[in-house]
Amino acid sequence: MVTIAVTAERDGEPRVAVSPETVKKLTALGCLVRVEAGAGARSHFADDALKAAGATVATSAAEALSGADILLKVRRPSPDEIAALKPGAIVAGILAPHDDRAGLEALASTGASLMAMELMPRITRAQSMDVLSSQANLAGYKAVIDAAAKFGQAMPMMMTAAGTVPAAKVFIMGVGVAGLQAIATARRLGAIVSATDVRPATKEQVASLGAKFIAVEDEEFKQAQTAAGYAKPMSAEYQKKQAELVAAHIKAQDIVITTALIPGRPAPKLISRAMIESMKPGSVIVDLAAERGGNTDLTKPDEEVNHKGVSIVGPTNLAGEVPVNASSLYAKNLLAFLETLIDKKDKTLKIDWDDEIVKGTLVAKDGKIVHPSLQKGP
Ligand code: NAD
Repeated sequence: MVTIAVTAERDGEPRVAVSPETVKKLTALGCLVRVEAGAGARSHFADDALKAAGATVATSAAEALSGADILLKVRRPSPDEIAALKPGAIVAGILAPHDDRAGLEALASTGASLMAMELMPRITRAQSMDVLSSQANLAGYKAVIDAAAKFGQAMPMMMTAAGTVPAAKVFIMGVGVAGLQAIATARRLGAIVSATDVRPATKEQVASLGAKFIAVEDEEFKQAQTAAGYAKPMSAEYQKKQAELVAAHIKAQDIVITTALIPGRPAPKLISRAMIESMKPGSVIVDLAAERGGNTDLTKPDEEVNHKGVSIVGPTNLAGEVPVNASSLYAKNLLAFLETLIDKKDKTLKIDWDDEIVKGTLVAKDGKIVHPSLQKGP
């Protein structure tokens, strides 16, 4: 029987790596799921609900971990947590493998197989395991809800006997998974929505959601998408033209949601201090790229900056602020991944180390860091 341990996350992380639904499915696969008491509390997954779904509720983390084959986490576990598992156990979580190298090496030295869910290849077979998408979608939604709550005006147009309330103007910069959900959410709230991106494929997506597409559509724009579907870094010349366009547009906007990222690089700077100063007092910017340096000149991670009446917020864990949904979807991502690692007939772990999904996510094995993106240069 495969034993799966789930422990509580640290203080700043409200999510958890299982839900009653996934416990039920993992139990049906023949696994024993041991959850530390209270681990699901912040996602409103009560111990009793997890127990009813088939989990064993352990009174301590140590009891949940002892001799387990697999540890499921949202964030990186501590080396002590891993030490309590079976030697060479599997640890799956959002492990931030490119941050804190010394910490990663300490985890690797335990001999566990570390699997970073955010490195999941974006192939069709792995769509159900794509944690970046499941969490970014919720972050895009919550960014608009938070901005609307901060904005001291209504979102939809209202025609009343006392006069007309104008619709808010919302501008979404970066139309990936988070940006698309932000557009849809702002539209549902009745705002007038515009959006920009450097990838030409987004033009039609923006229009199909009823928003206006704005971009510098030159020759470079036509080539701005990589084979993997991501944006390329743009030339200085393009950035200049883009800045002129944004400067002209942004001064009439009430709410701006920025989500622009380029894999493996700092976030592109799209909004300058001068652009912020051109906005009306009371305007709100929510910068989802804060963790990677931010899309504005003034963003501070997990802080609210008020600059001449314009609020700039840089939340780094917005999905975690919708923990019930974020945990449910994240747990489903992990379940879909585990289903590929467990032999359904024998009810044992059977890992194909050559599988693209395993190779893509495997950060460390047998005490060594093995992922190609983490090998130190010659
Ligand atoms: P991301 O988080 O890397 O970036 C967010 C957005 O910012 C992207 O749309 C990007 O083009 C945009 N951006 C980058 N630089 C910019 C700039 N200078 N100005 C304006 N916008 C800029 O993106 P993501 O949400 O991870 O999505 C990237 C792609 O992957 C999309 O095409 C998406 O449809 C695709 N995707 C595929 C799968 C799959 O096949 N399994 C799953 C999820 C997403």
